[in-house]
Amino acid sequence: MNANLVAIFLARHAGHEAKPAWLWQGEAVCTFGDLPAAIGRYRAALVQLGVKRGDRVMIKAENSPAFALTYLAVLAAGAIAVPVNPAYTASELAMLIEDAEPVLLVHGSATAVPEGDAPKRVTLEPDGLGSLPALAAGLAPDLAVEAMAETDLAAILFTSGTTGRPKGAMLMHRNLSSNVAALFEAWRFSDADSILHALPLFHAHGLFVALHLGLYSAATVHLLGKFDAAKVAALLPTVSVFMGVPTFYTRLLERAEFGREAVRNIRLMICGSAPLLPSVFAEIEARTGHRILERYGMTEAAMITSNPYAPDGRIPGTVGYPLPGVELRVVGGEGRAELPPGEVGEIEIRGPNLCAGYWRRPEATAEAIGPDGFFVTGDTGFKDEGGRVTIAGRSKDLIISGGFNIYPAELEMVLAEVDGVADVAIIGVPHPDFGEGVVAVVTAARPDLEPAAIEAAVEIAARKKLARFKQPKAIRIVPEFPRNAMGKVLKAELRQQFAGLFSGEG
Ligand code: AMP
Repeated sequence: MNANLVAIFLARHAGHEAKPAWLWQGEAVCTFGDLPAAIGRYRAALVQLGVKRGDRVMIKAENSPAFALTYLAVLAAGAIAVPVNPAYTASELAMLIEDAEPVLLVHGSATAVPEGDAPKRVTLEPDGLGSLPALAAGLAPDLAVEAMAETDLAAILFTSGTTGRPKGAMLMHRNLSSNVAALFEAWRFSDADSILHALPLFHAHGLFVALHLGLYSAATVHLLGKFDAAKVAALLPTVSVFMGVPTFYTRLLERAEFGREAVRNIRLMICGSAPLLPSVFAEIEARTGHRILERYGMTEAAMITSNPYAPDGRIPGTVGYPLPGVELRVVGGEGRAELPPGEVGEIEIRGPNLCAGYWRRPEATAEAIGPDGFFVTGDTGFKDEGGRVTIAGRSKDLIISGGFNIYPAELEMVLAEVDGVADVAIIGVPHPDFGEGVVAVVTAARPDLEPAAIEAAVEIAARKKLARFKQPKAIRIVPEFPRNAMGKVLKAELRQQFAGLFSGEG
């Protein structure tokens, strides 16, 4: 059997030929019946540009149907798609090009690319000089889908790089097909669904979850160029599923029209990529009647755990259970032994979703994936008696103060409940007595609030609810947090900003 993900998708579209695969700016761009030829024309264009099996094709662009077609055509040709964040500068991109050595760079006209003409490049604009869509439109479709083995590479995604130099996670066809099949079951997808998709296609969440689920389910995907709260609120009544990161939901809550009426046709709202505050979960439930389904995943393994489908089983602050076929263990101590329920340790996973390692980084791969095949996620957390998983934070963000381990997520959840507080980021910075001192960096719920009053409220709550060693040694109010494209707080930047706080320099 051909394990090519594209072959798996196309085989599932029989009977849905007349239905739009994607909507773009309110219009059907392509039906499921049109899809093989549309992909085939892009494939023919890629072949004409010299792309061969196993070659890397880098895609640096904002969302568009042409992006999705390019991605699928790269896979159909047996080549490897390397989507990258369009926000990268030309010099950041040059580093990734050096690493991935793509034969072709497909880019949007608004995004920065290095000077010169290597690698060969084409644009995703509908027409004009070097337009891939225009080239594809003039060619006869190449309908073949290259035969691939399960372990052949489909994509390389550079991890979000919130810290350190980006590494390319090598995703195999098997990783992507097993994951989408697991999500299809777990989240009860069907061809009756329609998905509102405002996530970036260059990221695992937008590509492997939102786009893939539409293609696997023969469900129409309403694709947006980017997240826009007003647009999303207006489109919600037209779809059955919405997926987002926590910041999408907090932005939607700022809009009066985000309520029961707006979600009247929604069966499922999913959240992930960063922790969803229980207070936000509760507010959404109060406003819309929906309990958000939170899941946990990462670039290297696509989706790992999910809360159950039954709404009562969705518990805020937890990420649920490993998906079928995925093993998750919490380890700690010298021998990295498995820890009992309730104890926080490092999360390791194994399963058909786990990538083959890091592109051209054998040492980093060996460090991350042990001889028994378990991958060190870099996240900390614990399981309860029943196996339900709670994330405590990134191991790099673990704070050790006066010899005690402090897990930021626990403090963040407690302090985000404080009146007047919108959000909290807990960081550790050098402290002369304690090694590290806990700093609570806080954003205000409203601009009219007095910083001193917020600080006092946070301090009182911390004293009441947190053990003494966990209580912040300083509280700082900031207008907003530095965040990456997926809404994750860039803690390394905050640590840098407040590095001198306890040494008299801050
Ligand atoms: P990325 O590779 O960009 O998808 O980032 C993956 C990381 O995001 C994980 O290792 C976690 O630290 C974090 N993450 C993803 N989903 C969640 C979640 N539901 N709750 C907390 N952290 C999450």
